[in-house]
Amino acid sequence: MTRNKFGDSKYPVVPGHEIARIVKEIGSNVQRFKVGDHVGVGTFVNSCRDCEYCDEALEIHCLKRAVDTFNAIDVDGTITKGGYSNFIVVHERYCLRIPESYPLASAAPLLCAGITVYTPMMRHKMNQAGKSLGVIGLGGLGHMAVKFGKAFGLNVTVLSTSISKREEALTLLGADKFVISFDHDQMAALAKSLDFIIDTAPGDHPFDPYISLLKTSGVLSCFLAGTITISGSATGGTKGTQEIINFCAARDIHAKIEVIPIQHANEALERLIKSDVQYWFVIDIENSLK
Ligand code: ZN
Repeated sequence: MTRNKFGDSKYPVVPGHEIARIVKEIGSNVQRFKVGDHVGVGTFVNSCRDCEYCDEALEIHCLKRAVDTFNAIDVDGTITKGGYSNFIVVHERYCLRIPESYPLASAAPLLCAGITVYTPMMRHKMNQAGKSLGVIGLGGLGHMAVKFGKAFGLNVTVLSTSISKREEALTLLGADKFVISFDHDQMAALAKSLDFIIDTAPGDHPFDPYISLLKTSGVLSCFLAGTITISGSATGGTKGTQEIINFCAARDIHAKIEVIPIQHANEALERLIKSDVQYWFVIDIENSLK
């Protein structure tokens, strides 16, 4: 059972956002899309379209609240039902265009995970070649941050508690350095060397060891203290999400995914708990429902 942000549970709701599909039908007022276009829907499907945040295509911060893609109450009182379904009806404003050359399965993880790391990176100008990026945690979010960092020409250091991630980070993802975050010597060698650190590690963990790695005026996204900027990320709006799709398609950047039929969803959840996936499961709804 899932709960929406109002604390209500709408059982049974089958969730699912990060939807990437092909337009099957359009309403008479739709202008931006036609049948056959490849499109994505991220974490929200509605907003007021009238506040300062909506005006800037930062709908996720809408003053009247963006409507989540699943298990939220839409303006007409219906409950949004997500993407594990034959179709979804969405206002064109909340659809992102996916280039036909870019696989739908690759686009899906960009619609929430990708945009969540891309947003703070862009806000802090971490798309300027030569800057140094630290990425805490190498999972679904972290590996995207590494890929974006390398595409932007950054010097990327992965900070992890798990030595088993070393090969992946350096060889497959092309990170420049891999540091075990509880190794004091390795951490000391990095002191005051990073412009920006993005913390993608789950669970409670101290921030102090990472703050000392920042240059003066460095930024730790999302958390604390000292003479650094506190920064946060709650995914992003349609403008940034469209940007990231175009960027990844143009630069041939793909999240590392495993495509499964929905019949394997329970097994996938069990594997997720054991961290036995690199890095995202993408569910092939179309073929699952045949
Ligand atoms: Zn709004």
